[in-house]
This record gives sequence, C-alpha cells and structure tokens, in this order.
Amino acid sequence: MASPAEEMEALRQQVLNCTDCELARTRTHVVFGEGNPCAKVVLVGEGPGGWEDRTGRPFVGRAGKLLDVALREAGLKREELYITNVVKCRAASEVGERLRNRPPRAAEVRACRKWLEAQLRILKPKVLVCIGGPAASLLIHKGFKMTEERGKWFRDTPYAPLAIAVLHPAYVLRQDGEDFLRARELLIEDLRKVREQSEDH
Ligand code: URA
Repeated sequence: MASPAEEMEALRQQVLNCTDCELARTRTHVVFGEGNPCAKVVLVGEGPGGWEDRTGRPFVGRAGKLLDVALREAGLKREELYITNVVKCRAASEVGERLRNRPPRAAEVRACRKWLEAQLRILKPKVLVCIGGPAASLLIHKGFKMTEERGKWFRDTPYAPLAIAVLHPAYVLRQDGEDFLRARELLIEDLRKVREQSEDH
C-alpha cells in the first residue's frame, strides 16, 4: 500500500496538469500545498496570491509572513503542519497589462474541490483549520459567519473530527492601528487553541 507521502505525490502530479478551470490560463505555478502528509493539523486558505503563484508555495507572501509569525507565537511549527488552499491556482483579473488578485469564483471553487477533497482523504486531519471565511463556508458549513463563529470548535465535521476558523492574515493586514493589533492577537489566540488541541490528540 502506498504511504500518505506517495499518495500525495501522485495526486500532486495530477494537479500540476489540471486545466479544469479558467485559472489555468493565467497561472505561473500550481500551488498544490506543502508540509507533513501525516500532519494532525491541516490548514486551508482561500487561494494563492502573486508570490505563491511565482514560487508554487502556499502562504509565502505578506499574509504568509504574518501567518508564520502567528504560528510561531502560538507554538506551532509550520513544518509539522500541512498547508493548502481551496483553489490551487491564483485567481486574478487582467487590469491592463497586469494581474490583480480577486476572490475565486464559485465555478473555480467547484472545479478545484475534488483536489482539496482528495488531499483531505489522504491527510485525514485530526484538526482542520480554515483560514478565513471562504474555506470555513466550504469545509465547516455554508454561510459561515466569521464575526460570530471564528475561534469556535466544530465537532464531527465532514472532513475532520475537529474544525475551527481563524482570521485570514490578509484580513488582519488590512486593519489599521489598534484594530490591526486586536485582529493579530485574535489570530494568535485561535492558533493557540489549535496547538492545545493538537497536543491532546
Ligand atoms: N492567501 C491564501 O488564502 N493562500 C495563500 O496561499 C496565500 C494567501
């Protein structure tokens, strides 16, 4: 039987060739996801931005740097986790000569969902962390409300026995002054809850 690492690599090879939606046209790299294929804790963001598209790695731009700091402050080690996104290619609109990031469209999320589901079948996370509202709406429940439901534990969800949503670091970066500090602290606080749970499992 293939190991989770082997299964993940076979899946990655398939996803690298995917042309199932429009995003394949403008991408530089597919951002499949990375980390420990046997991780207890799996993080799912919305989709790659410019830096991720350039490097083929998730969460390496400004939001990724903030995520790294928050993970560290919470006592989580990035290399022990698995990190991926709802969509594997950058969603961007052409504005003149340039590309500007935009949220993935419903049809793009639908086209990519099979890949995320295949990853989650291999990973079998104990704790699923949705980074931002779109991931939480897809993986915890439809119409997820970050203002009311972030930081709360959801049990026996379709993809993991425990799931939680945390503020997206890109959202945190859009806040100013005190609001920025408060949002950053909430992100760290929620990731601390994740660390505590992962130690109990
Ligand atoms: N934002 C995301 O949701 N995912 C990334 O990989 C980078 C930024």
